[in-house]
Formats: sequence, structure tokens, C-alpha cells
Amino acid sequence: MKEIILAVDIGHNVPYDGGAVGIRNENDLNRLVGNELISKLRGGIKVVNCTPSTAKSLNDSLYQRVNTANNSGATLFVSIHHNACPGGYGSEVLCIKGNYQGGLSTKIGEAILKELATPGLKNRGVKDRRNLYVINNTSMPALIVECAFVDSSLDMANYNPEKSAAAIYKGICTALALAEDEQSSNDDKEYYIVKYGDTLWGIGRRFNITVDRLVELNGIGNRNLINVGQRLRVK
Ligand SMILES: [Zn+2]
Repeated sequence: MKEIILAVDIGHNVPYDGGAVGIRNENDLNRLVGNELISKLRGGIKVVNCTPSTAKSLNDSLYQRVNTANNSGATLFVSIHHNACPGGYGSEVLCIKGNYQGGLSTKIGEAILKELATPGLKNRGVKDRRNLYVINNTSMPALIVECAFVDSSLDMANYNPEKSAAAIYKGICTALALAEDEQSSNDDKEYYIVKYGDTLWGIGRRFNITVDRLVELNGIGNRNLINVGQRLRVK
């Protein structure tokens, strides 16, 4: 599996770059969702946190985020935000739409919004906002996720940042066809104890898994060398 490097940007949260204020503060919610998302990303997804620790201006804040992402070789850039606008409610994703970079941004955006809709946030759709600095200046597919409206009593009534993080995570995994269970701990894993005479090929055939996948799942250095009694993950 190709390694995914996800650049996570927690919107605002530095001087000159404050978030929206409504029933709840955007800064707080961005941090809660962003940090929870980062904590979920293990295994096959490497994280680069692009949030600056401070900034000298709004431009500097945005520049630092983009610069960190561009220097990290990230596969994907996801910036976490929450909206504010009287009367507005629901979730939306901003990115460069269409076939730009294989249409990946749109595809991931749609997958994330589908998941965010599950806890009850209205899907406002993926919107083309190529004029936004972080979208326009990052060298990889980039999304701004506006999880919910901080000034909407409808959105904020039962708003759960952990659920938003889980939805974003699940959307990314779904869109990139990554096995979600591979990243987080789960109960679906299956193991096999190597017996005398076993080969990876034979074990693979028995559990319907390729040798390459067995090597990858178990971090096997020499595929001709497995030991009797060794515990192998086969699912
Ligand atoms: Zn924002």
C-alpha cells in the first residue's frame, strides 16, 4: 500500500487569525476536531500537523500552514474549520472541484460530507473555492472542511467534535480505499500461529490473503523466513 501522508491543518488558533465566534468558538471546535483526527491517524497514514504555533500576521499564518504541507511531501491537505453565517447550518467542503488532480479533492470531500451527515449535519455539498489561499497554494489536493456552523442552534445543539473527527477520518479512508480497521484498533483482526512446514504462500492461500499483504501486515523482513510458533496477522 502506498504511504499516505496527511497534512492536517487546525484552522485559525493563532494571533491575527482568530476563528468565528457563535454559540461556540470556532477556535475551540477546530482544535477538538483536529486533535481527535490526528489521534486517529496511525499505521498506514502518516500525519503532518500544519498548524503554526504563532503568527505575525494573517498572511503569515496561512503561509506557514501551506509551507509546512508543501515541504512535507503530503498526499493530501485537510484544513479543519467551522462556519458562521446567520441562518446557515450543515457541513460543506471547499476545494478545487472538477478533474484537477484526478478529481480526488471532490471525491474525498463528498465522502467526508456523507459521513458528517450521519450524526445529522446537513450536507451542503462540495464547493469550488480555488481563490482561498490554502487551497490555491498547496501542491497537493487540498480540502477545507467546514464541519458545522458555530452560530447555528440546530448544528450546535448536540454537536460532538469527536463524531466530526470520526466522520472525516472515515470519509478519507473510504475515498482512498484504505481499510479503516487497519488504522485504528479493532476486533476484526485475525491471527494464525505458524506450524511446522508452513509457508507464507500456504498460509496466504488458506486465509485468502496475498503474500505481499502478509509481509506488509506483519512487517516481515525476509519472506522466506517464518518461525514455528510465530503469530501472524492474517486479516
Ligand atoms: Zn474558519
